[in-house]
Amino acid sequence: MAALLYHPYTALTKGRRLVRQIPHFIHGKSLQLADRLHPVSSPATGEVVAEVNMADEATVNQAVASAQSAFSSWSATPTPKRAGLLFQLRELIKKHRKELALLITQEHGKTLNDAGASIDRGLEVLSYATGITDHLMGQYASGIATGTDNYAIRQPLGVCVGITPFNFPAMIGLWMFPLAIACGNTFILKPSEKDPSAMLRLAELAVEAGIPDGVVNVVHGDGETVNHLLQHKDIKAVSFVGSSAVARQIYQTGIAAGKRVQAFGGAKNHCIILPDADIDRTAETLVGAAYGSAGERCMALPVAVLTGGDTFADELAASIAERVKALRIGPGDADNIDMGPLISREHREKVFAYIDAGIKEGAALTVDGRTLHADKKGFFMGGCLFDHVTPEMTVWREEIFGPVLCLMRSPDFATSLQWINQHGYGNGSAIFTRNPALARRFVEEVQTGMVGVNIPIPVPIASLSFGGWKQSRIGDIHLFGPEGVQFYTQLKTIMQRWPDEPTAGGFLLPTH
Ligand code: NAD
Repeated sequence: MAALLYHPYTALTKGRRLVRQIPHFIHGKSLQLADRLHPVSSPATGEVVAEVNMADEATVNQAVASAQSAFSSWSATPTPKRAGLLFQLRELIKKHRKELALLITQEHGKTLNDAGASIDRGLEVLSYATGITDHLMGQYASGIATGTDNYAIRQPLGVCVGITPFNFPAMIGLWMFPLAIACGNTFILKPSEKDPSAMLRLAELAVEAGIPDGVVNVVHGDGETVNHLLQHKDIKAVSFVGSSAVARQIYQTGIAAGKRVQAFGGAKNHCIILPDADIDRTAETLVGAAYGSAGERCMALPVAVLTGGDTFADELAASIAERVKALRIGPGDADNIDMGPLISREHREKVFAYIDAGIKEGAALTVDGRTLHADKKGFFMGGCLFDHVTPEMTVWREEIFGPVLCLMRSPDFATSLQWINQHGYGNGSAIFTRNPALARRFVEEVQTGMVGVNIPIPVPIASLSFGGWKQSRIGDIHLFGPEGVQFYTQLKTIMQRWPDEPTAGGFLLPTH
């Protein structure tokens, strides 16, 4: 792995090795409180590369106090000025793109190109946030009674929190905090403890861009830290992205504590492939979508339903298998790599256990990558391919979140659609066909929040909003775009009259 460009923190002596310490970032300052320390490993080497501070209640209180103290002047800052500071931040992130990508690759394991692309997708939402003056334009109804006008504005909530998963160490934070602060809120990020450095660097860049101290803070930690955040009376809203079980728990706890919560959970995205789709092109697309980032994407495509006959399905399955065997696997910072390691040894064990379950329940493991790269020190594995998967199997029902593609064989379009719609997750789905009528029917009838037509990973642009259905989203408002603005603001309606003489009071309900 190439040397990191960025070594800002105190190196501590641990045994005979130097270990970087990753601090919190509160009110514009790095704080190494060492409440508890948690090791951060390089998935490519298996070695501990840093230790992250884990926030206890006192640290959480300090971060909330910082964000609360910054709120009154930040929310009163004119929107074009807030937008101007976000423009500066966008330029700084672009300037530091390579350094951020390296931090992501070192702690997550994904390829450098993929890490760079995730920063770009995060910047799209930041760019959307720079249009905040337009997004916050209200509504005005003039002359609704004699000399009386009624109008509506949206105002910020206060201190908001973003809790993010390991698989996108920078992008998902960028989907949250720029829009939240553009709306006038202040923010506390709680990144995954598995790969926390990129988010910390983003918060530092925010201050370097001129965003006042306390507007963007980072506290590190795990479930314990999150519970302190969820119980804090001064936190008004929580955005969460991660697994469905934690999403449900955070939603329930946050709502019970009187907060606004949006919680995005796990996924098991399907595509239907009809026999009129081009075999080679579809196989190529599918392998990229299933194995990119080692399958650790909420919008990965781990299930393909081959629809309409065994001749076509056999040919497509063979073409996919050939490509899976040829995947180039290695450290994310090496050249010409398709896929890096998994996030941790424990996660790889979990993926292996799913593969055992698939074999036991009767699926055909046509490519077995479990022992590939077993000689390497990191958390590598090769791609695995199951054929003849059915809806009774664990590998179909549950999210594996690894480099494992499940092929199902379906006799017709209606059966394929029914399988997707009966699944517990509903993040994304796709159809590959040249038949516009069936594609339209799919778009209308499929029960997922994001749909691709001949597009495998249909993550919407920033001016639309992101989110799945069913167990993939708990709560009713999607991330970023217009729904993001709605989430991070509250509505106020104003009725005004400027009479020449003060209006006499009355005992009747005012009418127009
Ligand atoms: P996770 O649920 O384990 O952790 C997510 C975040 O919650 C982390 O910051 C973690 O520290 C915190 N956390 C963990 N346990 C907690 C607990 N008991 N109480 C409170 N907080 C807790 O998820 P992960 O393994 O980091 O990420 C992978 C999951 O995220 C997958 O299920 C994936 O599908 C999902 N994901 C979903 C989306 C989406 O948009 N729907 C996007 C990316 C990832």
